[in-house]
Amino acid sequence: MKSLSARMVLSHLLVAVLGAVTTFFVVRALAPALFDASLRGNPNPGMGRGSAGQGQGQMLRDQFASAVDSSLLIGALIGVAAATILGVLLAYRIGRPLAALRRATKDIAEGQYQARVDVPKEIELAGLATDVNTLGAALAETEARRLRLLGEVAHELRTPLTVIDGYVEGMIDQVLPTTPANLSQISDEVRRLRRLGDDLSMLSKAEEGRLELHPARADLREVAERAAQRLRPQAEDAGITLVIEPGDVPLPAEVDADRLAQAVTNVVGNALRATPSGGRVQLRCRRDAGTGLIEVSDTGVGIAEAELPRIFERFYRVPGSRSVGDTGSGIGLTISRSILARHGGSLSAASAGLGQGSTFTLRVPLV
Ligand code: ADP
Repeated sequence: MKSLSARMVLSHLLVAVLGAVTTFFVVRALAPALFDASLRGNPNPGMGRGSAGQGQGQMLRDQFASAVDSSLLIGALIGVAAATILGVLLAYRIGRPLAALRRATKDIAEGQYQARVDVPKEIELAGLATDVNTLGAALAETEARRLRLLGEVAHELRTPLTVIDGYVEGMIDQVLPTTPANLSQISDEVRRLRRLGDDLSMLSKAEEGRLELHPARADLREVAERAAQRLRPQAEDAGITLVIEPGDVPLPAEVDADRLAQAVTNVVGNALRATPSGGRVQLRCRRDAGTGLIEVSDTGVGIAEAELPRIFERFYRVPGSRSVGDTGSGIGLTISRSILARHGGSLSAASAGLGQGSTFTLRVPLV
């Protein structure tokens, strides 16, 4: 018998029957002795001491025993009936939510992530139901993000491909001259495509923990400064003051300088894109106990508190945040954070709120 419901009803029945049998034997063993003792202590005045009296006593004893048997039988029947009813009720109460949970997990396994179960009153079942609901919600979000990613990747691919297609067609039809300027437009778009490909492959490596590092001794100040300097032309074009303060304290660390520079470039690039013309982006390096800090602060659009933890998620972009500059793929911070994590460090963000600018801090352990 494998059904939990049947087992519950049976176990109730078994307890009731065992209870009844035990009671029967205990009562049958004790009751006559007690009855005799009671008769001896309080002899019926009408009952003589002779053999007639003994016969009467035996009759009373038999009647009493039969009354006890009948009462025990009625009690046992009531007990068994009650146990069966309670067992069935309990089996129903547990069986129903379990069946709902099974249905929901089956739906989720089939890709219907919106399936939810009502949370039952029983604590253990309620915990299980809540977990299944959380699982469904998490899978639904992952699926939504995956679909959005596909849309975004398709969109990111389409724009440069359309431009390349336009130029190449124009040149084939001799509507556009094959000049270095036109060819360099094509080359820019090809580079954009390659960057997207690199970002995507890096993301998958980072997520699988396969990001390769080639660590070597370097001064964090130099890595950070070099990376930020590369964005100076971009800052100047956007009318933003880029201040780089590497500081006087050496920050020696074992790092993969290229990867770390990539994280710095991403954070500074984000700061530049989030800052309107006339604003300021500042990079500072300092030492905090055994850690080297690279802090990038800006006077840009800022980040609402609720968005702060989310910006590190894959493909997450603060809705409507990119009023300044172009839109990224939402992968940069995810990759940067895993680069820092692989170095035993961290990447965190802080902002006093929308319109208040933001500060990103890269922490790397020093040697
Ligand atoms: P991308 O820059 O490619 O969109 P990121 O992962 O680098 O992706 O950033 C995720 C999101 O975090 C950005 O889309 C932006 O909304 C927000 N963000 C990042 N840096 C800043 C910043 N300095 N100020 C305001 N918002 C920022």
